[in-house]
Amino acid sequence: MTSRFPLTRTLRPVPEGDRSQILADPGFGRHFSDHMAIAVWSNDRGWHDHRIAPLEPFSLHPATAALHYAQEIFEGLKAYRHADGSVWLFRPEANARRFARSARRLALPVLPEEDFVESIAELVRADEAWVPAVGGEDSLYLRPFMFGSEAFIGVRPALEITYSVIASPAGPYFASGVTGVTLWVTSTYTRAAAGGTGEAKCGGNYASGLAAQLEAQEHGCDQVLYLDRTGGEGSLEESGTMNLCLVTADGRLITPPLGTILEGVTRDSILTLASTFGLTPVEEQTTLPDLRARAASGEITEVFAAGTAAVITPIVGLKGPGYAFVIGDGKPGKQTLAVREHLLDIQHGRSADEHGWMRRIV
Ligand SMILES: *Cc1c(COP(=O)(O)O)cnc(C)c1O
Repeated sequence: MTSRFPLTRTLRPVPEGDRSQILADPGFGRHFSDHMAIAVWSNDRGWHDHRIAPLEPFSLHPATAALHYAQEIFEGLKAYRHADGSVWLFRPEANARRFARSARRLALPVLPEEDFVESIAELVRADEAWVPAVGGEDSLYLRPFMFGSEAFIGVRPALEITYSVIASPAGPYFASGVTGVTLWVTSTYTRAAAGGTGEAKCGGNYASGLAAQLEAQEHGCDQVLYLDRTGGEGSLEESGTMNLCLVTADGRLITPPLGTILEGVTRDSILTLASTFGLTPVEEQTTLPDLRARAASGEITEVFAAGTAAVITPIVGLKGPGYAFVIGDGKPGKQTLAVREHLLDIQHGRSADEHGWMRRIV
């Protein structure tokens, strides 16, 4: 069967020795594989020019729409090497569906879900050598994205759109072990409001979050926690790149409801896996004063953040203007680490895939 994304192989791949050196310590988002997936949409032709091509810079007119009005969306998922050498994706259809939802919100054309999955599978097949060896948490991070590539600075949806996927080998997110982080609760900024773009995975959300991230760093924290309003008394939403989960002493796994947060694939997977750990999943709002009181009383025992890049990050404390408090004993929680391990085991093929989440591509 011919592929919807035919491959033109690069004549100048990264030399094997250099690639091995990169794969020995890939870090995150610094190195890229040899190829990229591409498809172009125009309003007169629809989707066309699907291909896997050598990785190369885009040539952009200074009037390129996305550079001015941020008509752009993206996704993030990973390819995992299993012990028998095979390569797998985790729930790529969920990313495809979310990409389509994000596209509608940003007035971008919808890429058929099967083309989304196929573009990723074909890129990983072309760049299989870039999927890190089995063992540990290493993977090949995949970044599908789409932007208004028409050269036009009037304000309307662009009439030419570029879709692409690039791949970047990723090492363990926590190079020195999973120790847990303290979040800065911003009372200055919000991430999203009802009717805004909080549910879409768009670059603009990240641009508006950078000032909050700097605020967090000024207070000695790496990550931000957003509330649903400014001023510090609202309900918990999420961190800038990860969803939030609370574990209670009586065995509930509480996460904020959808609406203005991003619907994470990791979040959804954890809600499904909760019962495996004797936890009851609950989607419910929690205010900051409530979290603080229930953490102090021992009713809330663990807090963690969930997203594809870091999988699960234990939250051991929160800080805000004029206050700081710890969660539990200030160390990563037992349930947090158990859920993290279990999810990683499914993704890396060390644990049975009982929910049919894994898709073999090599
Ligand atoms: C991508 C993202 C997440 C996590 O989603 P996953 O599908 O689990 O990777 C959470 N919050 C925001 C704002 C995101 O962009």
